[in-house]
Amino acid sequence: MFTADNVPRAAEDPLFGLMAAYKKDTFDKKVDLGIGAYRDDNAKPWVLPVVKKVGLVLLTAGVDVANSDIQADDLLRKDPDLNHEYLPIAGLAEFTTASQKLVLGADSPAVREKRVISIQTVSGTGAVHLGGAFLSKFLPQPTPAIYMSSPTWANHNQIFTNVRLPIKSYPYFSSETKMLDFEGMISTLSSAPKGSIILLHACAHNPTGVDPTQDQWMKIAEVVKAGSHFPFFDCAYQGFASGDLAKDAWAVRYFVEQGFELCVAQSYAKNFGLYGERAGAFHFVTAPGPDAQDTVSRIASQLAILQRSEISNPPAYGARIASMILNDENLFKEWERDLKTMSGRIIEMRKAFRDKLEEFQTPGTWNHITNQIGMFSFTGLTEKQVGILKEKWHIYMTKNGRISMAGLNTHNVAYVAESVSATVK
Ligand code: PLP
Repeated sequence: MFTADNVPRAAEDPLFGLMAAYKKDTFDKKVDLGIGAYRDDNAKPWVLPVVKKVGLVLLTAGVDVANSDIQADDLLRKDPDLNHEYLPIAGLAEFTTASQKLVLGADSPAVREKRVISIQTVSGTGAVHLGGAFLSKFLPQPTPAIYMSSPTWANHNQIFTNVRLPIKSYPYFSSETKMLDFEGMISTLSSAPKGSIILLHACAHNPTGVDPTQDQWMKIAEVVKAGSHFPFFDCAYQGFASGDLAKDAWAVRYFVEQGFELCVAQSYAKNFGLYGERAGAFHFVTAPGPDAQDTVSRIASQLAILQRSEISNPPAYGARIASMILNDENLFKEWERDLKTMSGRIIEMRKAFRDKLEEFQTPGTWNHITNQIGMFSFTGLTEKQVGILKEKWHIYMTKNGRISMAGLNTHNVAYVAESVSATVK
């Protein structure tokens, strides 16, 4: 019998605990480096200008614009047919089609040969979960393990545990070089039992900010192929990492070119700033071959059933925004500019932070700050140093020494560098 008395208290999510402590802190120079969302140079959330434009159009769904306070001039377009009905189970077709092209490339052999099943999900988390639930349902017994990088996004562990996939890890981050432990990674993947699932971050690895080079990706693909493993890409930062959509999707596209059967979880939280709107997609790419179409229809039917039982149908608003931008040449260009604004500011902050750390003659080397990419940086600071930074300097970051580059800006970078320097000395 179920009894509430048997439910133990779960540990608080460490990130949310950190956020609460930061909010309570009344010190005027406090800095939040835990946050996993973009901030502008004034530490404020940033609505992408292109999203602002399109979002306003959508907000008027069902509103009599002429008799409202909304300035008609502000509107790019008005769609009288827009309503709040349910989306189809697989989501908005124009959104999933555009999403497929965005991550795989419009000229991808898999897209051309219609070997991709795409389904709209509850952002990237929902896509990772749907992929995990799907694999778990159809993997042979005994269930192969999913190998994830050590470390990885903390939620990966929880999501794949929830769908009962056995979890293993491969070495990823070298605390010595603060770069990729490539030999360790390759060695573990080479000796993994055949047919394992290999979880890979497409770009801007969270939490380390360390990505393989293209040559290293080629070697990874070779090892994954030799082991008949199944690659599972988590793509949460396309365009946000380098500012170049194709560059950030290079690894995924390379694996597809190599003829892998694979899947991709795609998030639009960071690159569109649509965090709370939960826009994302899950793509399953079937291997080339005469049976590809049959495989596509079988997999699509199973994903639809799974989706129906889990969320029925996905949320519309964020997907509509992304879809309008992805499917309009001019808006797409504006979006690319916005991506450059965000990634450019982060890259500048990496430079400024490293320069300041070196200027203050902080012990150790700091080149990894500029070598790493994306939202996060693994600083190499110890748990004890993280504690001092919080207690003495009011600078908040996760215990593993990960900082969100988006939390740095021209007003606080010198203060943070000075505090880190004093703490390390
Ligand atoms: N995967 C990784 C590696 C992430 O860092 C994140 C967000 O932090 C996600 C997936 C999913 O994010 P969301 O569910 O907000 O799209």
